[in-house]
Amino acid sequence: YDFTMEDVVSLCKRRGIIFPSSEIYNGFAGFYDYGPMGSELKKNVKDAWWRHFVTQREDVVGLDSSIIHNPTTWKSSGHLDGFSDPMVDCKETKLRYRADQLFYAPVIVDGETVGYVCVQEGNDDDMVKAAKKQAKKLKKEKKIDGQAEAFAFKEVIEATEEEMAQIPSPGSGKPTLTMPRDFNLMFETKVGAMSDESSVAYLRPETAQGIFINFKNVLTTSRQKIPFGIAQIGKAFRNEITPRNFIFRSREFEQMEVEYFIPPGDDVWPPMHQEWMDSSKAFLLSVGLREELMGWDVHKGDSLAHYALACTDVTFKFPFGEQELMGIAARGNFDLTQHTEGSGKSLDYFDETLKEKYIPHCIEPSLGVDRLILALICSAYAEDEVGGEKRSLLKFDPKIAPIKVSVLPLVKNKEALVKVARDLYEKLQKRWNVSWDATGAIGRRYRRADEVGTPFCITVDFETIEDDNAVTIRDRDTTEQVRIPLDDVIPYLSKAIDG
Ligand code: ATP
Repeated sequence: YDFTMEDVVSLCKRRGIIFPSSEIYNGFAGFYDYGPMGSELKKNVKDAWWRHFVTQREDVVGLDSSIIHNPTTWKSSGHLDGFSDPMVDCKETKLRYRADQLFYAPVIVDGETVGYVCVQEGNDDDMVKAAKKQAKKLKKEKKIDGQAEAFAFKEVIEATEEEMAQIPSPGSGKPTLTMPRDFNLMFETKVGAMSDESSVAYLRPETAQGIFINFKNVLTTSRQKIPFGIAQIGKAFRNEITPRNFIFRSREFEQMEVEYFIPPGDDVWPPMHQEWMDSSKAFLLSVGLREELMGWDVHKGDSLAHYALACTDVTFKFPFGEQELMGIAARGNFDLTQHTEGSGKSLDYFDETLKEKYIPHCIEPSLGVDRLILALICSAYAEDEVGGEKRSLLKFDPKIAPIKVSVLPLVKNKEALVKVARDLYEKLQKRWNVSWDATGAIGRRYRRADEVGTPFCITVDFETIEDDNAVTIRDRDTTEQVRIPLDDVIPYLSKAIDG
């Protein structure tokens, strides 16, 4: 990348894509708001996903379940007991850290380790910088002579109590970190007038459980037969200990998930799992993810949940490193079995083809909307030169571009010309999100459109009204212009935008 995450964050702010939440109150860590461009972008991404996995398939139906479920749901699913990250608290500063993102950095004076400082995960430069700063502090406090050096090294904390006591907390130089303990990521809330334990409920940390608890409802009302899937897009909430990297890891986010129910059998799930990996990849490429930045990560051993048969992540090379973008898991029949036990209601299925009753297994592709949007912005962000002038643009696929077309009347003061342009604008508006831009030099207007990723600009000029009844359509990426009769504009755009 020839840009950094700071560039992305500032670009999103400047162009009305994403703002820090509650910014006038100094923001709120882990929460973000989508602005005029961002809300269109997000809607387009979700619509494209829905079309790909629901509308264009006969075997997947949609669902929109509530965010707060009966709390027993989370007991059955295992989230109440197991959905946690290891965390350590600093007893002095009261700051909280994700233990698996904390690293020792030994402070070395004249070749001898005199202590440790503790640094949060970051890129290597950040870690070393932070460690050196802490080392200086430690040196001062311990009145050490000589050259103090600190090297951050990537070592996950799995320390004994004794070792932990040696680790000074960030900043203080004193051993004030508690032992790692599990921190449940679910947000608690209270429902109803009672204020005791019985009113505690949770904001869903994933959309998937809403699908499982509706399995029977959907099955009996949709005339689907196994194999079939249920898809859902919606908000999920996780009280992440260290939200980071902008919208990559936030506390409120959106997920797009499918549970695809299949018969049991060791020979059944592998091809289905592969099929969902293939169609997930096809979808990601169809919305403009750059293939060379995409990767696969096959979970093995410890990184595989105990009930899962397989899980493969799609990764993406973000400016801060290669990270999980989505997961595609073969979950066996863990979830429906848990909810059968938890609810006492049978969630089995009689397979007429196999003449067999079973609790269905499932394949789960799970994709974060916000993570995908970050990956798409990183894929689309480009700078080049046009006519000797530097230009920055977002090469969004027309399907997801917030604004599809910008209509530009060449001049403002020629009534007949403005009228043709306005009529065209209003016609296009019935189909797509389009913008009207009548101010400034035409080159400046092109730049404005490029910056927010508008794939087409249409200029209405004197020739349009005096001569050929045609307009000029300019392509954002190539800057090439074609002359198209007014009557052909909609079919031309429709092919380019809707495919
Ligand atoms: P991670 O290891 O990054 O915390 P996870 O493995 O816990 O992610 P899953 O529970 O598999 O994530 O969630 C499925 C998808 O939901 C992820 O691949 C990601 O796209 C999205 N997602 C999960 N947590 C967050 C978050 N805090 N912020 C934004 N998106 C998220």
